[in-house]
Amino acid sequence: MPSIVLFTNNLRLADNPALAAAVAEGPVVPLAVLDEEAHGDWRPGSAARAWRAASLAALARGLEARGAWLVVRTGATSEHVLSVARETGAASVHMAAAVEPDRAAWLHRLAQTLAAEGLRVVQHSPNLLHEPGTLTTADGRPYLVFTAFSRAFERRVALEAQLPAPNRILVPPKRPASEPLPEPTADAPPLMLASFAPGEDGARARADAFFAEAIAEYDRRRDLPAVDGTSRLSPHLAFGEISARELYWRALRAAEADPAAACGALAFARQLVWREFAYHLLASHPRTPTEPLRPEFARFPWTYDAAALDAWRAGQTGFPLVDAGMRELAATGWMHNRVRMVVASFLTKDLLVPWQGGARWFWERLADADLANNTLGWQWVAGCGADAQPFFRVFNPAGQSRRFDAAAYVRRWVPELSRVPDRWIHAPWQAPEAELAAAGVRLGETYPHPIVDHAAARARALDAYRALRAGGR
Ligand SMILES: Cc1cc2nc3c(=O)[nH]c(=O)nc-3n(C[C@H](O)[C@H](O)[C@H](O)COP(=O)(O)OP(=O)(O)OC[C@H]3O[C@@H](n4cnc5c(N)ncnc54)[C@H](O)[C@@H]3O)c2cc1C
Repeated sequence: MPSIVLFTNNLRLADNPALAAAVAEGPVVPLAVLDEEAHGDWRPGSAARAWRAASLAALARGLEARGAWLVVRTGATSEHVLSVARETGAASVHMAAAVEPDRAAWLHRLAQTLAAEGLRVVQHSPNLLHEPGTLTTADGRPYLVFTAFSRAFERRVALEAQLPAPNRILVPPKRPASEPLPEPTADAPPLMLASFAPGEDGARARADAFFAEAIAEYDRRRDLPAVDGTSRLSPHLAFGEISARELYWRALRAAEADPAAACGALAFARQLVWREFAYHLLASHPRTPTEPLRPEFARFPWTYDAAALDAWRAGQTGFPLVDAGMRELAATGWMHNRVRMVVASFLTKDLLVPWQGGARWFWERLADADLANNTLGWQWVAGCGADAQPFFRVFNPAGQSRRFDAAAYVRRWVPELSRVPDRWIHAPWQAPEAELAAAGVRLGETYPHPIVDHAAARARALDAYRALRAGGR
């Protein structure tokens, strides 16, 4: 009897437990439903929608190469699953489980509806190495400190066999009606498809290139935004186009195979453990996408400066590294991790805008928008999360730009500064006017004056933090 495989954030054929289980049962009905209700309060933003469209097209090609097809529908998932089951005689549905609270609640309702109609519903966990809730402290509590979590993670990791992509996928004789594949939307980041190749083949090509060229240097180059030193696999991981398990084991094998690559490979594996930490935290603290994990931060005296938030969003703050990052995000749907930390620190500490406003903007604009990682990242920078950077560590955007050698990165994304010499590019307001003029820059006309004085903003942030601490006693 055929089984339906519901493709959500598991858009791949290799190491996909839902697909493997269905293939083992017989003919398969691959189904993707564009259902905005499935995401609750966190509907995909413009970049993620565009990525999903391209990724579904890639998935459909992969299925066709194996003798199958993809059914695409728009609307309520339960109705489409039931109608497809009626049309094909399918008796079971295999799908990916979710950790995100809204999605998990939605999946629970969906599973109940389908089971009430007589379908067998099986949820699989395709995107994590350990199930949330399985790694706890001795007294059964979730870990809030990364190093302790990672030790527990490593103790419990067993080399599980990955599931190969099926060579052929049997389908029922009649294909249910399908809509055309979704088109990339007009609001997609303009350079996203020039920078990334959504889909499983694109993910594997990116991973192959990273393991061949960049893994050995990863630990030394991962903080340099001007070089291609990180894997850029995050959107592929967010859509489940490649399994974290595959990448983790590949990293450990790379470390074993070549001592010169070991530091880089282990540092990369460690980032995947941060990702797991983020998911486990979201599962144990489901309110953290909107509420600080450390409750005293609910009283933090944030300001709500709409003009400052707009300047930040538009990459018009007058701080070159911040503006470069925000423009990279708008253009490609991705931003380098070091720069994410700098722009997030700038928003929450220099501008005192609540981190939730930044997290929402990232959600809207990131192709890799991932509720667990985004929440962890923002709460980490804002100082209110698990194992977070202390609030009083305020990044100096010009200092970070210098320290991490970001001149070429700034020139690329802030072209109006492209002729400013290295000496001044991190902080053009410090340059003599004549040197800026020679580079074609007039502050306040061709590029903004800094919207805040960093030293004064830092002092204001520390005052606010002191007020919070004093209030807490
Ligand atoms: C404010 C802020 C917001 C963020 N929002 C997101 C988000 O929405 N989605 C997202 O995937 N990542 C997010 N991150 C984490 C990190 O910036 C990205 O995962 C990373 O930049 C992706 O690039 P990469 O694939 O080249 O990473 P690599 O350095 O190659 O790392 C490999 C993988 O490890 C994981 N990873 C790396 N760094 C982290 C981290 N700090 N926390 C959790 N997982 C990590 C990612 O899945 C990444 O693809 C955020 C970080 C910050 C500071």
